[in-house]
Amino acid sequence: MNVRNRAADVASRTDVLAAVDLIGSTDDRTVETQIELSEIPAPPFGEEHRARRMLELSEAAGLGAPHIDAVGNVVASRQGTAALPPLVVSAHLDTIFPAGTDVTVRRDGNLLRGPGISDDARGLTAMLTIARALESASIFTEVPLLFVATVGEEGPGDLRGVKHLFSDAGAAHQAAGFISLDGAGLERIVVNGLGSRRFRITSRGPGGHSWTDWGTPNPISALMEVGRRLNRIKLCANPQSTLTLSRVGGGTSINAIPQNAWLEIDTRSSDGQQLDGIEVSLRDIVRSVGSEWSALTFELSVIGNRPGGSTPVAHPLVEAAVAATHHQNRTPVMALSSTDANIPMSLGIAALTLGCGGEAGQAHTTDEWYRNQAGPEGIIRALHTVLLFAGVA
Ligand SMILES: [Zn+2]
Repeated sequence: MNVRNRAADVASRTDVLAAVDLIGSTDDRTVETQIELSEIPAPPFGEEHRARRMLELSEAAGLGAPHIDAVGNVVASRQGTAALPPLVVSAHLDTIFPAGTDVTVRRDGNLLRGPGISDDARGLTAMLTIARALESASIFTEVPLLFVATVGEEGPGDLRGVKHLFSDAGAAHQAAGFISLDGAGLERIVVNGLGSRRFRITSRGPGGHSWTDWGTPNPISALMEVGRRLNRIKLCANPQSTLTLSRVGGGTSINAIPQNAWLEIDTRSSDGQQLDGIEVSLRDIVRSVGSEWSALTFELSVIGNRPGGSTPVAHPLVEAAVAATHHQNRTPVMALSSTDANIPMSLGIAALTLGCGGEAGQAHTTDEWYRNQAGPEGIIRALHTVLLFAGVA
């Protein structure tokens, strides 16, 4: 039987229909939970309050053995009827917003506004609703399920939660597949993981008075020369590769030659070889500027490394997501993004990222919004994808 017929079969089972009904009839509760989680601050490296609440909610949703692992991920499980490696269903705890950001959610009908309300309070909530629906409809999958709320998905976190999850010490190191629930949407299926590598260059020198010590080598001037040369690196157009000078700082005073300066650089590509090539050029440039400015020291460090990867569209996990999308008479859109799915993809484990219904915008700003338009449909699409891949007992 092809996967589209299987999708129709699975969706028409009485127990699956009951789960779908529950997702629709408890939509208000889902939205309340989304607001509640969004209002618990979860800055980079400060996810523990939200994690503790997720732990309680995972337990209340009927998940087994919920616990917080060594790096702060909330891990819970749902047994399968077969002794097989698990399918991971995941969403991320962290936001990009620093501690102290006002995370109050303002509500105007079905429009919610608040930093992180979609990315990824929506995914966390969708995960809980799926667990609740499976439990209340007594659905058991053949493949065991692992529900994980990860830390460190956003920039500075450098995917540390999901990296740990798939390490030898992590709960998912032999997983059969990975689904990340991230933000809103009903059609996108992220099957290509955009890789990135991030660098920080620090230059130091003796510094001095801007008048009496004039002529002393200046770390800011040196880094500007590094930046000028970096901007001349030829970047590949297909697959698109980028290099951005993203942050810069240094100096002590307007009337001083600085003693130090720093520059941060973000490079991205879906092709790891392109990233390797850019890194080689970047190191060459720092070395040659360093030899021309020998009175200064230069230090180059890698401050972020998100490997890229992809999941073949013919993989059963992608086929399941495609069939679940078609089942709702929507057109799947294969997409490229940088998400928790990057790590399993880079390890050759099938992975994809789905939106969880509704519409959203202005992500990564304090004006982020989420509109609960067809919200339940996104959660149902994710549920069908899980059931099609994991099999219903
Ligand atoms: Zn996200």
